[in-house]
Amino acid sequence: MARELLSLPVLFRDCDAGPPGIVDVREAGRVCADIVDILSSWCSLVVCERGGIAPATKTVEDMVVFLDMNLVWLAKHDAGGDFVVEVRELAAAARGVVVPREVLGVCDRGGCGRDIVAGGVDVRCEAGHEWRPAEWLSLGKRVRSTAVTGQRARKRRSGRRS
Ligand SMILES: [Zn+2]
Repeated sequence: MARELLSLPVLFRDCDAGPPGIVDVREAGRVCADIVDILSSWCSLVVCERGGIAPATKTVEDMVVFLDMNLVWLAKHDAGGDFVVEVRELAAAARGVVVPREVLGVCDRGGCGRDIVAGGVDVRCEAGHEWRPAEWLSLGKRVRSTAVTGQRARKRRSGRRS
């Protein structure tokens, strides 16, 4: 349970980051809003019924730390079962919209050199150069052939010099 709860800040950050790490931007926005809404309502419940100091800010991280500190109390609460279910659902929903990052190669546009990452329907490098579906096939060949051409050019130059 604690593990699911503590995974929420990272999942929230991934959901909030947008493409290329996201399958469905609208859905990710909804999941982000749900995480904030649901966590803050559980924080309010703890503060109202148990008293004490509310989390310093309404960031997901602070709220998760706060709820984690009150986990034993929440587990004994009448609504404790709902809390467990809701946190599990939030984590699952967030995992559903986040794409595991897959690095396809190195961007060769204008000496960019950043990683090209696939996510959802987008393929772009970390600097934002976009690769259209029509270019995907040639992408692998092109990245590889740049390396080969570079080698040949070096060989030619050193050949001429000797
Ligand atoms: Zn690039």
